[in-house]
Amino acid sequence: MSEAMELAGQVALVTGGSRGIGRALAGELAAAGARVAVVARDAGRAQAAAAELPGEGHRGFGCDVADSGAVNELVKTVEAEMGGLEILVNNAGITEDNLLVRMSDEAWDRVLNTNLKGAFNLIRAAARGMMRRRSGRIINITSVVGITGNPGQANYAASKAGLIGLTKSVARELASRGVLCNAVAPGFIDTEMTAALPEAAREALLAQIALGRLGRPEDVACVVRFLAGPAASYVTGQTLVVDGGMVM
Ligand code: NDP
Repeated sequence: MSEAMELAGQVALVTGGSRGIGRALAGELAAAGARVAVVARDAGRAQAAAAELPGEGHRGFGCDVADSGAVNELVKTVEAEMGGLEILVNNAGITEDNLLVRMSDEAWDRVLNTNLKGAFNLIRAAARGMMRRRSGRIINITSVVGITGNPGQANYAASKAGLIGLTKSVARELASRGVLCNAVAPGFIDTEMTAALPEAAREALLAQIALGRLGRPEDVACVVRFLAGPAASYVTGQTLVVDGGMVM
């Protein structure tokens, strides 16, 4: 097997794979030879994204990661129809920013249920098969704000900090079964999620980035490919920061 196709024969499930960072990392895993299950709430966009990936055998699925029943069905379907599930990337995420005193119960719950419980739902559903096969890679996409905190993002930062604790617990619990779990913490990446930021906020953020530019989805995707592949077989429980030197 050439090194360029180090994930040949493996199945990867990427939540939030229809656009932004998830789409780029689905592309990178597909380029490494994996067959990819692209998951998003909008099934049509997930299927369209899957159809554009390099290689054969990719599929798109509509599923809300916050719905544990739907997630259990999704994982069963992927394992049965795609022939396994070796790599899980929990990337689906939303923001619903507001000042703390104005943040509604609903805004708190929606963000925690998608970003944190969503990852738990997928890990719980996928872990059984991975443990049985004695091999698996779980990669959770957190954020630098889960490390630093951010005004106006109490719900989002809490969900992302929670993902780091979840990552470490899963890494400890599943290590003896050959399942590795790591997190990737992107900084400020140019996607639809960050496109809505006002120009002044963009400029202020840019000034904090040592490398002097926003990140591209591809900058995150190649780190995920590393964590999914054979080169990372002695790495677990870690959070890799990919932020151009914003947080040190
Ligand atoms: P986008 O908003 O561009 O894409 C989000 C993706 O998640 C879409 O595919 C969306 O599809 C999917 N999604 C959202 N909610 C759900 C849900 N409940 N169930 C299933 N899929 C869902 O986001 P980014 O690409 O910018 O971000 C990807 C991840 O990276 C997120 O976890 C984000 O927090 C994190 N991140 C992003 C940073 C950035 O600067 N952009 C920085 C740090 C972290 P659909 O709407 O159809 O469900």
